[in-house]
Amino acid sequence: MQAPSNTSELEAYLGWSIGADLLSKNLEDVLSQSYSDLEGASPKKEFITSWERTRKKLLEPVAADGRLDDHAFLFEFFPITGRKFAMDVMILGTSSLGYPRITIVEVKMWDRVTKVKGGYCYLGTKEERHPLDQAKFYASNITLMHSICTQQGGVVNSCSFVPLTTPKTGTGNQKLLNYPEKGSPNFLTVTDLIDYHLSHAPNEYQNDHLKLLKSRKLHTSPSLAAFALLPFSGASGIGLSTEQEKAANAILSSCKTKRDNKRVIIVNGGPGTGKSVIALKVFGEMMKAHIGAFRYLTNSANFRDDLKGMLFTYMYSHPTLGSSPDDSRVDYLVEKFSAIWQGTKKNEYKLLIADEAQSLELRHKDGNMYKQTLTPPVIDIIQQAQVSAFFLDPNQAKKKNMFGSTEHIITAAKLLGVEVLEFELHEQFRCGGRDDVVKIVEEIYGHRAKPSPINKVEINPFKINVFDCIHDLELALTKLPKADSTRIIAGFAWPWKKGEQKNPDYFDVSFTCRCGKIFERSWNIDYGTDSVDPRKSNGFIHATKTDFQSDILSIHTTQGIEFDNVGLILGKDVSLDSAGNLRYSLLKGTDNNVDEKTIANNYRTISTRSRALLFIYALDNAVSNQINNYLNQRVV
Ligand SMILES: [Zn+2]
Repeated sequence: MQAPSNTSELEAYLGWSIGADLLSKNLEDVLSQSYSDLEGASPKKEFITSWERTRKKLLEPVAADGRLDDHAFLFEFFPITGRKFAMDVMILGTSSLGYPRITIVEVKMWDRVTKVKGGYCYLGTKEERHPLDQAKFYASNITLMHSICTQQGGVVNSCSFVPLTTPKTGTGNQKLLNYPEKGSPNFLTVTDLIDYHLSHAPNEYQNDHLKLLKSRKLHTSPSLAAFALLPFSGASGIGLSTEQEKAANAILSSCKTKRDNKRVIIVNGGPGTGKSVIALKVFGEMMKAHIGAFRYLTNSANFRDDLKGMLFTYMYSHPTLGSSPDDSRVDYLVEKFSAIWQGTKKNEYKLLIADEAQSLELRHKDGNMYKQTLTPPVIDIIQQAQVSAFFLDPNQAKKKNMFGSTEHIITAAKLLGVEVLEFELHEQFRCGGRDDVVKIVEEIYGHRAKPSPINKVEINPFKINVFDCIHDLELALTKLPKADSTRIIAGFAWPWKKGEQKNPDYFDVSFTCRCGKIFERSWNIDYGTDSVDPRKSNGFIHATKTDFQSDILSIHTTQGIEFDNVGLILGKDVSLDSAGNLRYSLLKGTDNNVDEKTIANNYRTISTRSRALLFIYALDNAVSNQINNYLNQRVV
C-alpha cells in the first residue's frame, strides 16, 4: 500500500497498491494521510471507519486468495477534475491482448436495506444512491473521457460489493441484489468479485497501464466527437458563414499553441447571428482533436439540458461507448458558469467557452458557491483556461445582477496580460435567414424605424399572419406537416403560480378569446432536472416534445432553439399609444428582473425563433389591428 508520490497523483487518487502488497500498510492510515495532504484537514471519522472496513472485509480476503497478486489497485480515485466524487476501489489488469481492463468496485458496508426504489436504497429513513448505479456512473466517466479508454482501448467493468448485506427473500436486501436485472452485478463474497474481475482481466501483461491511469489524462471518445460534429458534416449539414468560420478557426488554432500562450477571444453578435453554432462547432472539434480539457459553459439551464440530452441520447443509442447510459461525462462538458468559480489551478483547461457571457453574474449573492472567492468570474475563467472564448450579445438587456460585457472582459484580460482577439457577427440566420422578416418584426415592436414611405416586400415562403381568434390560430398550426417543429410561445404577461409549476392541469395562461370561448393552457410546465438522465430534464423535453397543444412555452424554455413554426401570444403587457406605436408595461407578477425594454426584446426574440412561419394573436384589439394593418401594407 502506497501514498501518491507527487501532487498531481494526489489530486487523482489517495492510495494505490499492487495486489501482493495490499496489506503492507493499513489502507485507513495511508488514505487518511493523503486526505489531510489534499484537503488540509483530517478526514471525518466515518471515512476512516469505512476504509478500515474495506481493508478488513475486502483487502484481507483478496490478499489471502492471492489470485490478484499482480493486479494494481487504486483507492479513492477522482475521475473528474473539480468534481468531488471519488471511486472507492479500482482494480486494474490487462486482457490477453494487453489492453487495459478496469473493474470499478463501489463498496458499501450496509447490513440492512429496508427498501429499494427508483435507483435509491433506503437504510431506514436514510436515502443512498444504489451502489450499482453509482459504479456504472463512474465507469461511464472513465470510458468516455479517460485516455486509458479513449486512446488505449481500455474497457471498464463496474460492480458493487456489499459484504454485510444478507439477502432474504422479499426484503429490501433481496431487491438490492437483483437490481438492476441486467448489467453490473452485486457481490457479497470476495471470491465472486475476483472471478468477475479475472474473467475479463487475466493480467498477463501486469500493470503496464497503471502509470497512464494515474496521470488522469482527459480525452473524449472519438465516436462522441463524431456525433457532436454531425450537424456540420455532409451536404445537408450546417455550414458556417465566413465570419463564423473566422471566429471558430481563431479559437481552435489558439488551442493548438503552447500552454503558456494564453488568449482571450470575444465574439460579439446579436440574437440570431449564430454564436451558439460557432460554440457547438468548436465543442465538436475539441472533442475530436484530443487537445486537452475543455468545457462549454452557459447559464441557460434549458439550453444546457438540451445539449446534454442530445449527447446523452447518442450515448444511450451506442452502448459500446459506456457500460451504462448513466453518464456524468456530459454533465462535466456542459456546465453553468459557477462550476469553474472555485478553481485553483491556472490553465487547468485548454479551452473554456462561455456562451451568453453577458449573463455572467456578480458574486455577492447568497449561496455557498459565491462565498469561496472574491475574484470576478471573468478573471477566474481567463486564469483557468489557456484559451477563453466569450460569446456575447451586447444588446441583450441585462438583468440587474449581471455584468458580463466586452469592456469588462477586455479590462480583465489586460490586468492579466493576456492577448485579446475580437470578432463581430453581422449576418442574420433568424427567420430562415430572411433579413426582411427580421426587419419587419423589429419594425412592429419598435426596435427599428418603419420605412418611409412604407414599401412592400416579398417574404415568400415565410408566412406572418395575425389571427382574430386564438382557436383558429391553433387549428391552423395543427394542419401543418406533422414532421415540423411547432410551438406556441407567450411573453412575460402571465403569472407563473408557485406550487403549480409542475402541474399540467393548472392553466397559467387563461383568457377569453375574441370569439367568446375561453383559451387556457399550462405555461412552461416544470419537468425538473434529472441528474442522471438529462433526457428527462426540462430543457430537453421542451426542445424535443412534439405535442405543442399541451402547454405553452416562454423565452426561457426556448433558449437557443429554433422551431419551424411559432404561434405567438401578445399579452396585456402590450398596448398601443396615441401615436400608434406599441407600448410595453410591467404587469403584476412579472419577473422582478425585467423592465419594459426586456419585454420588447423578448417579444422580438420569441418572434424570430421561427424558421418558416409566425402566427400572432394579440389580446389587445388595437394592437391586433395595428399589426394586421402594418403587415398588409408591408408584405406582398
Ligand atoms: Zn377563439
